[in-house]
Amino acid sequence: MLLDILTVPDQRLKQISESVEIFDKELAEFLKDLERTMRAGPGGVGIAAVQVARLQRIVIVDVSVKQNIKHHGRMVLINPQITQSQGKAKGREGCLSVPDYTGNVIRAKRIQLSAFDVKGNKQVFECEGYEARAVQHEIDHLDGILFLDRLVSRRNDLYPRESQSG
Ligand code: ZN
Repeated sequence: MLLDILTVPDQRLKQISESVEIFDKELAEFLKDLERTMRAGPGGVGIAAVQVARLQRIVIVDVSVKQNIKHHGRMVLINPQITQSQGKAKGREGCLSVPDYTGNVIRAKRIQLSAFDVKGNKQVFECEGYEARAVQHEIDHLDGILFLDRLVSRRNDLYPRESQSG
């Protein structure tokens, strides 16, 4: 099932999501729908549960469609926590909840994080480059932060999205 995506200025996108406590079948079913919804969207390389109005600390990232980058494939990150970050880089970001714009944001180049999988097993990841950027973007959603809140400058670093952008 495809889920409806909240878009700005929906105030739910500004709220802080709660930790997941119960890892059950319903969660697994929700994750399937969340992933389908992510993949159906333009440039869908990541999604957070709050974007479909479920205010829980759940993220999916999969940047494997991008060529020539390091990645982990599909990552389900529940209650994710960034434990280390290194470096800074500016790069362009888009968001399913901000359909009309992309923008430049500074993010750490490399991160280490821990998160639980769908069964509640704790996992540790090291990410870099575009994948690290996507993970940081999605974890921001869990704290009510959009890339619009982190633009390098509002005047020079916000771009209208082309209508055919994929
Ligand atoms: Zn987003």
